[in-house]
Amino acid sequence: MARPYHIVDHAFDVIVLGAGGGGLRATLGMAATGLKTACISKVFPTRSHTTAAQGGIAAALGNIMEDDWHWHMYDTVAGSVWLGDQDAIAYLCHEAIPAVIELEHMGVPFSRTDDGRIYQRKFGGHTTHCAEGEMAARSCAAADRTGHSILHTLYQQCLKHKAQFFIEYFAIDLLMDDDGQCCGLMAFSLEDGTLHRFRAKQTVLATGGGGRVFESCTSAHTCTGDGNAMALRAGLALQDMEFVQFHPTGLHGPGCLITEGARGEGGYLTNSEGERFMPKYAPHEKDLASRDIVSHAEGVEMREGRGCGENGDHILLHLEEIDDQTLEKKLPGILETVRIFKGIDARKEPIPVVPTAHYCMGGIPTNLHGEVVNPRGNDKNATVPGLMAVGETACVSVHGANRLGTNSLLDIIVFGRAAAMRAAEVVDADADVPKAPKDCEERILDRFDALRHNAGGEKAGQVRARMQHIMQTNFGVFRKQDTMQEGLDDLDEMHGEVDNIGCTSPDMTWNMELVTALEVQNLFEQASVLAHSALNRTESRGGHIRDDYEDRDDDHWLKHTTAWRDRDGSVRLGDRPVRLDTGRDDADTFPPTERKI
Ligand SMILES: Cc1cc2nc3c(=O)[nH]c(=O)nc-3n(C[C@H](O)[C@H](O)[C@H](O)COP(=O)(O)OP(=O)(O)OC[C@H]3O[C@@H](n4cnc5c(N)ncnc54)[C@H](O)[C@@H]3O)c2cc1C
Repeated sequence: MARPYHIVDHAFDVIVLGAGGGGLRATLGMAATGLKTACISKVFPTRSHTTAAQGGIAAALGNIMEDDWHWHMYDTVAGSVWLGDQDAIAYLCHEAIPAVIELEHMGVPFSRTDDGRIYQRKFGGHTTHCAEGEMAARSCAAADRTGHSILHTLYQQCLKHKAQFFIEYFAIDLLMDDDGQCCGLMAFSLEDGTLHRFRAKQTVLATGGGGRVFESCTSAHTCTGDGNAMALRAGLALQDMEFVQFHPTGLHGPGCLITEGARGEGGYLTNSEGERFMPKYAPHEKDLASRDIVSHAEGVEMREGRGCGENGDHILLHLEEIDDQTLEKKLPGILETVRIFKGIDARKEPIPVVPTAHYCMGGIPTNLHGEVVNPRGNDKNATVPGLMAVGETACVSVHGANRLGTNSLLDIIVFGRAAAMRAAEVVDADADVPKAPKDCEERILDRFDALRHNAGGEKAGQVRARMQHIMQTNFGVFRKQDTMQEGLDDLDEMHGEVDNIGCTSPDMTWNMELVTALEVQNLFEQASVLAHSALNRTESRGGHIRDDYEDRDDDHWLKHTTAWRDRDGSVRLGDRPVRLDTGRDDADTFPPTERKI
């Protein structure tokens, strides 16, 4: 054993873990108000997954056609299949407009209309007049590189405001005291292997999603949901983890995303009979129906023998009818991706696509200010002192059972900003920084050492492959009791090997085997919570589609799932009510009805 370690100590007003769009927007806001702020990231900030976001960020600016934030709100509520909290959705859609204008003023190079305004394109599930009018052009886009543009701009703004960055530092776990307050976190530097104790008055988790739980996903390899697992190990709840979004147009094979913007610009889908099948499933929105609807339709077409290719295992996306100039100007990244990964010229040939895991609607429950909620007894809204969460790791919840495209970039910006405003109110710059609780620190280092010094242990990559296969096979687009139970049993059998993951070398410098080991344990904890939550929900809603319970069941299931994972690996489930009231005078609520979009 290498203990005792020499640990480098840091004290800040606020530490933000994660430098994607959510983390950087929070960091920027906090640093700008004068709080001593640090941002920690395992990758260089501009390499965070936000950089991969293509299609755009939603805001009812009305630059192309008439629009209204209430329509945006309606679409988001209906898209969430009424599982989103309407106070949070009203806030999201109302704040979208100033938030995007603010990004423009910070320097995001949005594409432009001929008269110089921000370019907006159509996207799935976004309509006008509450689904009574035509599809809305609401997605503000910088070609098909919107996330990249936003991330670079935010990073520059953070530097301008003198936020301090700890780049290529891997956070292991949260420091929680006996009263349940978060006091910071433990991390290590990938570059020189030193261990660091970051103490702070407020800690913000902005660690992104855990898409890598699945075999085929559009997310970066770094999307391992580390923050979610850190919350579970700190005894906190995750919410709605059964809701995973499968994007209808992942590139068949490599899984890279083909943005929905491709259909927004006029692309469409066909089956092996050359039929445009979406009008059968969504006569009004057709190829621009919500993602859960399109992915499910693709699954049905393939299951009923109308899949394309020798194995009938994909669908074709056609962009050939869009003129070359539009493709080259609006979707240059897509042309490049398809050429590099498939050797296909999308101007001339259709693109093979499949539903691919894309986004985690669930995560760490928070209130509107980004404060982490951990239900206790009858208090379903109890907050955790000193801890916030923003971005894909959080579940505010604005996406409910199914996220609309372009609403996630919006979520990370709006709630990153909200968290910064709250921190400016509640963090007392003159107060003492809390001390690190010793026994918690010891527990963190015990787990870390067990991985590091287990040379004969299981190989993390092999454990990950087994887990991903179980998740893909049993918890994918179609779910049912017996296959999910089988999946859960298989996961249960894996507990021993997950606990026994090891590294061939205990070296701390650029030991990517050690990083992978930590990430795989993180993924596994989420997979088990996801599996239990999915098995428990006996209805179909949004991204959670069951063959044995085909209908939505508002009488029993219009509620959020909450889940805790105990140290022995057992999962406890609970629930929280959905907030159907906006709590404001300028926004009506939308009571649950039949879904039109
Ligand atoms: C291919 C793709 C395209 C998309 N396109 C769109 C789109 O057009 N519009 C839209 O609205 N949404 C889109 N999305 C979704 C959206 O981009 C993401 O949900 C969002 O960017 C997530 O941002 P984030 O800040 O929460 O996390 P991320 O951008 O994933 O950042 C996570 C950060 O946490 C850090 N981190 C994580 N764990 C640790 C650890 N243990 N220690 C230290 N640091 C850690 C990482 O280094 C990183 O900086 C897309 C997603 C994908 C995958």
